[in-house]
Amino acid sequence: MEKKPFYHLFPGDLALTCGTWSCNFTCPWCQNWEISKCPPQPDLGFGYTTPEEFVRMAQEEGCQGVSLSFNEPTLLLEWAVDLFPLAKRAGLHTTFVTNGYMGEEALEVLVAAGLDGANVDWKGGPAAVQKFCGADFEVVVKNSRFLKRHGVHVEVTTLIIPGVNEDEGTLRFLAERIREELGSTTPWHVTRYFPAYQFRAPPTPISLLEKAKEIGEATGLRFVYVGNVPGHPGQNTYCPGCKALLIERDGLSLVASHISANVCPRCRDGLPIRFHIEK
Ligand code: SF4
Repeated sequence: MEKKPFYHLFPGDLALTCGTWSCNFTCPWCQNWEISKCPPQPDLGFGYTTPEEFVRMAQEEGCQGVSLSFNEPTLLLEWAVDLFPLAKRAGLHTTFVTNGYMGEEALEVLVAAGLDGANVDWKGGPAAVQKFCGADFEVVVKNSRFLKRHGVHVEVTTLIIPGVNEDEGTLRFLAERIREELGSTTPWHVTRYFPAYQFRAPPTPISLLEKAKEIGEATGLRFVYVGNVPGHPGQNTYCPGCKALLIERDGLSLVASHISANVCPRCRDGLPIRFHIEK
């Protein structure tokens, strides 16, 4: 779950994850461009896996959940809608890592199929999203809000890219919209970009990620995380009330958890972290 990243949903759990090819966005920095920027390639030997087989594989691997990620999972909508009820019946949780760009009917069927959580990419301000991704930022916001209102756990990720979305005004704008639309306890992951696909700008300076975290927190977000920087303390969860260290992470893994329920053991402040799937 930490790799997705989901930090407030089933911490430390394993989710068997799949993706396919292609995407409905045009991001020129795509970190998964080897699969998102090409059509399906059946000749590579990856056969079709049925939802039933996938659930069985997840159980055999000792996973607690299933997830769709890597390229845009909306391209696998019908498969996801078949998979999720089977997964839920098997006691597994279900998640999507998505650009949040789909119609309302797609959201409705995902919610009805039992989607537990979505990490939605908010890639930048409206002009950058239009220019680089070929998309309407407000649709992503509207869809994130729809998921939240329908009981889906939502976290937001922004890959911080120099020259695209790193200026103070954009970061403040994004943080304010997350707070207004999804609430101040929504986790915001500000993650480090590395050159990929058509983008050759150098990797995001770590100081810029720290600045983004500061701006997010100053705007009122209670959980802003620095991502793609192994060893950085900004990956950890601290109680926003008493600052106690609650969950330690490194890289893509949970290292230690000092809580097992959604309350701070030191100051008893409530924490918006979901630990277990309801039976
Ligand atoms: S939405 Fe994600 S997978 Fe699609 S092009 Fe953009 S970064 Fe790549």
